[in-house]
Amino acid sequence: MRLSRAFQPTLKENPAEAQIVSHRLMLRAGLVRQTASGIYAWLPAGLRVLRNIAQIVREEQDRVGAQEVLMPTLQSAELWKRSGRYDAYGPEMLRLVDRHERDLLYGPTNEEMITDILGSSVRSYKDLPQTLYQIQWKFRDEVRPRFGVMRGREFLMKDAYSFDVDYDGAVQSYRRMMLAYMRTFRRLGVAAIPMVADTGPIGGDLSHEFIILAPTGESGVFFDAGYEEMDWVGEAVDVEDPAALAAFYDRVTTLYAATDEKHDISAWDALAPDRRREGRGIEVGHIFYFGTKYTKSMDISVAGPDGAALHPEMGSYGIGVSRLVGAIIEASHDEAGIKWPVGVAPWKAALLNLKPGDAACDAICNDIYARHGEDLLYDDRPDRAGVKFADADLMGHPFQLIVGPRGAAAGTVELKRRADGTREELPLAEALARVF
Ligand code: ATP
Ligand code: MG
Ligand code: MG
Ligand code: MG
Repeated sequence: MRLSRAFQPTLKENPAEAQIVSHRLMLRAGLVRQTASGIYAWLPAGLRVLRNIAQIVREEQDRVGAQEVLMPTLQSAELWKRSGRYDAYGPEMLRLVDRHERDLLYGPTNEEMITDILGSSVRSYKDLPQTLYQIQWKFRDEVRPRFGVMRGREFLMKDAYSFDVDYDGAVQSYRRMMLAYMRTFRRLGVAAIPMVADTGPIGGDLSHEFIILAPTGESGVFFDAGYEEMDWVGEAVDVEDPAALAAFYDRVTTLYAATDEKHDISAWDALAPDRRREGRGIEVGHIFYFGTKYTKSMDISVAGPDGAALHPEMGSYGIGVSRLVGAIIEASHDEAGIKWPVGVAPWKAALLNLKPGDAACDAICNDIYARHGEDLLYDDRPDRAGVKFADADLMGHPFQLIVGPRGAAAGTVELKRRADGTREELPLAEALARVF
């Protein structure tokens, strides 16, 4: 993309309404615009980031055997009356009435709908297990939408739902999802720690929130220093092998880690003081086992091995896709702007032509652009070098390919890495090989 033609409205001034750094940077870098309280439009660069995150989430869901579906945003109130949640959910639910006076709602989550879909499609225990997921907009009428897309009212969530014939099967599904989440966050370039979370009336220990550490996070967190060193990627874990899954699961959940809601003072006191880490964090994901809560209340069953009806055991698993855009920035920025992890960035690199109109600079830039135009943002504007450097740092491209008259004459370009600010003068081919 050529910056001279891009819809890329960066702001020089800090927007007054933004209280935290990710919100300021998202507005300044031209990623989103607010259109109503807690409701955002995604501009081209922001949409590229959102799609990159969604794609990584999707690939890791697929990899553990979850299957993608797409459910509507609007749901019938009837569904929620069957589970008993229509009245229980309260004012966070946006309720609507259509022209025939039928009650609808904009889905804040989809347990009821997916349970109904599964129930009307599956007859026998042989059709299970199943894990289905979608990446779809949700609406929750938050009392205090704030921090930009981090606590929006309309937001993009990946929500998955598992159905198993028994508790053991549900545990396997839960562990597979734990693995998918660890892989996902690792690929997104963030350290998200799985912390014990509330299970409500279900009890047990199968509920974890995934927390990215950040001083502006809304949860207080307490964890073992071991999480700072842990290499949990589990590349080799065979998701069909219960023993391998169990070993992986133990490795990532045995150390102490809890949010303030579930903080256990006696376990904390038992931890060596130099292992205790305390701080704040952002909830970017949540996995949850809740047994037969919905299959029973909605009366969904399949025929079991002995012919008797059984209610499938369920879990649900969310990732805040749009919240992650802000959370990643909270975890990865400096005074100059965003530092996108590779894989999330809207473009891999910025190409900075320091002297448009100079024949050698234009030639080398056009050559690079012809080869890699899809993956880079070409700053071909007739502006000062300082403006280009500032905008590239603000937008946070992992690499900057800097082309000036002296280098162009010698066939070299300067390669800057945004992560650590290092710069190197390299022959063109070598610089390109490092980036693409
Ligand atoms: P929170 O505690 O932040 O209100 P939650 O526990 O209500 O979140 P879940 O029901 O667990 O949220 O939903 C799954 C994920 O959706 C969360 O882990 C979070 O990443 C994301 N999410 C929830 N609410 C919002 C929101 N208002 N804006 C953006 N993302 C959200
Ligand atoms: Mg909430
Ligand atoms: Mg929460
Ligand atoms: Mg939650």
